Amino acid sequence: MKTIGLLGGMSWESTAEYYRVLNEEVRERLGGLHSARCVVYSVDFAEVERLQAAGRWAEAGDLLAAAARALEAAGADFLVLCTNTMHKVADAITGAVSVPLLHLADTTADAVRAAGLHRVGLLGTAFTMEQSFYRDRLASHGLTVDVPGPADRALVHRVIYQELCLGVVTEEARREYRRVIAELVAGGAQGVVLGCTEIELLVRPEDSPVPLFATARLHAEAAVARALA
Ligand code: GLU
Repeated sequence: MKTIGLLGGMSWESTAEYYRVLNEEVRERLGGLHSARCVVYSVDFAEVERLQAAGRWAEAGDLLAAAARALEAAGADFLVLCTNTMHKVADAITGAVSVPLLHLADTTADAVRAAGLHRVGLLGTAFTMEQSFYRDRLASHGLTVDVPGPADRALVHRVIYQELCLGVVTEEARREYRRVIAELVAGGAQGVVLGCTEIELLVRPEDSPVPLFATARLHAEAAVARALA
């Protein structure tokens, strides 16, 4: 089994989920007392969020590059960056290490394509929904990506930072997300990418009339597949 390097803490609420899914998946595949061989580097999310909000992406990239080097030194065979948003600085990470990065947009797109879909709605932070780094990577796999309108993008973003990353899950937020998902579907989306690793802590398959793509779970499952390949 290869050693998985988890670059997490963004937020730890979703990194904890990655850790659980990795271990459940290994137990399911190998049985008995088997569990995932992994190293976790968990950052202080307040530092990262401050850099994001100020648009200081190069510094955020340096911070994560240093963490990636530590994971490589600790024996990680490949890296899993446990956040969609910070894939904005994926190049800073891959440039700092010689082990590969399992890119979250690729594992997500593979799942969408495997489901036979080509047009998806995307929910995530404003960075993920509005900038090109993530949408273009999905589009490079042949997908058409729709995002909510400006007011709903602001709502989705606010719930992520002010609630989900703090471990707060409310019925009101779930109701709002259900409405936003229904509108994406009415606009033609065949599925919806939960493109922020905390959203799957709030939204469940039954909250959507179309398939949902839970990026943290898909990413963790893909990591196990690679670790055991
Ligand atoms: N975990 C989130 C994501 O997948 C948001 C937190 C962050 O900004 O990294 O994008």
